[in-house]
Amino acid sequence: MRAARRLDRIPPYLFAELDKKRQAALARGLDVINLGIGDPDIPTPDHVIRRMQRAVENPAYHQYPAYEGSRDFRAAVADWYRERFSVQLDPDREVMTLIGSKEGIAHIFWAYVDEGDYVLLPDPGYPVYRTHTLLCGGRVYPLPLVKERGFLPDLASVPRDVAERAKILFLNYPNNPTAAVADLDFFRRAVDFCREHDILLCHDAAYSEITFDGYVAPSVLQVEGAKEVAIEFNSLSKPFNMTGWRLGFAVGSADAVHNLGVIKTNTDSGQFTAVQEAGVEALRNSPGDFIAQMCEVYRRRRDLVVEALNRIGWNLDKPLGSFYLWAPVPAGYTSASFAAELLEHTGVMVSPGSLYGESGEGYFRISLTVSDERLAEAMNRIEAHLAS
Ligand SMILES: *Cc1c(COP(=O)(O)O)cnc(C)c1O
Repeated sequence: MRAARRLDRIPPYLFAELDKKRQAALARGLDVINLGIGDPDIPTPDHVIRRMQRAVENPAYHQYPAYEGSRDFRAAVADWYRERFSVQLDPDREVMTLIGSKEGIAHIFWAYVDEGDYVLLPDPGYPVYRTHTLLCGGRVYPLPLVKERGFLPDLASVPRDVAERAKILFLNYPNNPTAAVADLDFFRRAVDFCREHDILLCHDAAYSEITFDGYVAPSVLQVEGAKEVAIEFNSLSKPFNMTGWRLGFAVGSADAVHNLGVIKTNTDSGQFTAVQEAGVEALRNSPGDFIAQMCEVYRRRRDLVVEALNRIGWNLDKPLGSFYLWAPVPAGYTSASFAAELLEHTGVMVSPGSLYGESGEGYFRISLTVSDERLAEAMNRIEAHLAS
């Protein structure tokens, strides 16, 4: 049976191609070191696991959860935003639980984008923004993220007629895949731009807590008046090593939270309340230094990889956020040919930058979510291969 035509709009899932190559390398007996996937390798904190174990036994949680999320979790999010960002949120109107932030990011397009509407997307960027824009029949207007501009989009370059017909601007800082960060001043300009053109500003803050060298990432909601035009997506996945638990949240514009909720209540029935209780535990009771310890792990790995690559001819700065490194491929390679060669000859798997958009061509991404030992081994293999 023929699938819906909208599926034809989605480019082939390139990560699946890459995984085929990985399987083939494994089959040839290669010891593959996968630096391609950003998924924390260190377990969820013990106290969160224990709280989950107790919560599972509560029969009240065995029934359908509240659509918008448990009141306790939404209140914990509001309190965390107040302490962390000095942002005041009404837990009843400005906070919504998500089944991982990816779920909310995907659904926000369905709440705002009609056939033919423009969506302004970072290129390179997290692929979900693009695929859901296309599924909704929206038109992608890519905003190239280039090194010369600190991997920040040039909003002034968006033609007026595009801006007038755009419904969403997506931003993501600290950024995946470029590891760039943005300051509050950039967010201020983005809020002004969205206000001027009546665009919903969506900010993906999944890496807000993964930062280094004293840098503290802002929330877009710290901008005066941002709540009128902005919704921010955040997640317990990265700061608390909870990617498997599927717990995130959307905060900001009450209108946007409401409209997202209309799609969600007609699609899913919310996250298991026990998972949200575990999330309350993570947000309220984590010893202050848990996230700091995680950042220290990633900082150490970042230094290890940057220093190793710089010894063999790269010239990378140490990024201030996210657990990625974004590096140019050596002369003579494309993103795909470099990643394929590394995998074939060294067993080291990196993501080709072209997977994240046209402007990602010429780069590759390394994820720091594998042990120091394996990272060091990967760097040794790359060095030996490039010297040969
Ligand atoms: C990991 C990641 C997310 C979200 O993850 P969830 O586990 O769905 O909360 C969102 N955006 C970016 C850019 C990410 O890298």
